[in-house]
Amino acid sequence: MARVLTPRAEDFPRWYQDLIAKAQMADNGPVRGTMVIRPAAYAIWERMQAAMDARIKEAEAQNAYFPLFIPESYLSREAQHVEGFSPELAVVTHAGGKELAEPIVVRPTSETIFGEFMAKWIDSYRDLPLLLNQWANVVRWELRPRTFLRTTEFLWQEGHTAHATEADARDYARRILHSVYEDFMVNLLAIPVVPGRKTKGERFAGATNTMTLEAMMGDGKALQMGTSHELGQNFAKAFDITYTSQAGTVEHAWTTSWGSTTRMIGGLIMVHGDDSGLRLPPLLAPIQAQIMVVKAGEGVTEAAVKLRDELKAAGVRVKLDDRADIPFGRRAVDAELQGIPVRIEVGPRDLAAGNAVVARRIDGTKSPVALADVVTEVTGALKTDQQRLLDSALALRQERTVDVETLGDAIEAAQTGWARVPWSAVGTDGEAEANGKAVTVRCLIRPDGSVPESDEEPGVLAILARAY
Ligand code: AMP
Repeated sequence: MARVLTPRAEDFPRWYQDLIAKAQMADNGPVRGTMVIRPAAYAIWERMQAAMDARIKEAEAQNAYFPLFIPESYLSREAQHVEGFSPELAVVTHAGGKELAEPIVVRPTSETIFGEFMAKWIDSYRDLPLLLNQWANVVRWELRPRTFLRTTEFLWQEGHTAHATEADARDYARRILHSVYEDFMVNLLAIPVVPGRKTKGERFAGATNTMTLEAMMGDGKALQMGTSHELGQNFAKAFDITYTSQAGTVEHAWTTSWGSTTRMIGGLIMVHGDDSGLRLPPLLAPIQAQIMVVKAGEGVTEAAVKLRDELKAAGVRVKLDDRADIPFGRRAVDAELQGIPVRIEVGPRDLAAGNAVVARRIDGTKSPVALADVVTEVTGALKTDQQRLLDSALALRQERTVDVETLGDAIEAAQTGWARVPWSAVGTDGEAEANGKAVTVRCLIRPDGSVPESDEEPGVLAILARAY
């Protein structure tokens, strides 16, 4: 088959941009750093949203919608928050043909405005926990934009919760990290992620603890796929979120926030894509199986329609491609680019023998299958291939992760993959040194893989890597 993309091994970033263009996923917007999400990628986002939303609701958070515009003064109420976000803010100074008395920021995140209203809605301990989420767009003026991974406007969900105690807030932030994000990423996206604790320097502006999910991309670099923050009482104090306790005293609440974005689409491409395009995990794929009429006539279309109906009845998300006026080869290349897990090719020759050809995107195999067996074959393939993607992503991460004892060795190893090194051998000075060499501390973990409660826990390991 003709080469459609720059090979991954030749130039990974170029391959990534090529794939996005050729698979018709996105275009750059006219304002630097913005993007147009095309239907092929938006359908993926919708599937992500639905699956994430179901898990969020399972965690008992409710959806709401807050305004895009936030008074600038709100951001200033939490000192670290404003300091962290100021350089990234887009500020509206004029509207309605006049200069505004108070500038308005376009939300970069919504802790402040949620805080303002939580303060109004929470009165007694009976109002807690208050568990909210919103699906929205946000704007952060990014200096180094890259499609999906870092755009100035992106789509996300942001959860904001308030709790009576520090322990409740901590438990909830962890519940989101594991039972919402980790579960979604591993089981739906087939991306093995490492949950960990961010170091102080990498914390969200205004948080007391930031937890992250880090994934290894196909080139050995890391991507932060999502974050869950404990905000302590910082925002509760800034916005006066108080409640009357059972004992009758007035207390500040403890809050959390957590977000995951359209960046995950970029992660999906960089973890599962190959030189022919994207490979979509079957559980996520908007179209799981595409039936392709190779050439019309001789009962081909009728047989294809019958297969479509059978697959649909078996619960497969199936699409019939009967555009016989477009060369078959081109349609097959497009299906590969878009990562459709299974193609069922129906042509006169195979049909005469009572067969269709089942082509699997994930392992590249292609074989004739009796028409009566197609449904079983396809449903089996979808199941197996979901697992295969996860297994191969995990195998790559294991292959490219090394355990070392010194900062120097870690920086060296992080040139091609991840290095696991005792945090005590790195420390904050070492972190600064690594930063200078384009390697960052992605997160801290315990030797058993669980998430540390503090940076000072003995035995904690740091994962160092280059990152997107
Ligand atoms: P934060 O609110 O800063 O913790 O961001 C939540 C998540 O959004 C991060 O974990 C990233 O995965 C993602 N993210 C941050 N900045 C961007 C951006 N400019 N474009 C897309 N995703 C982003």
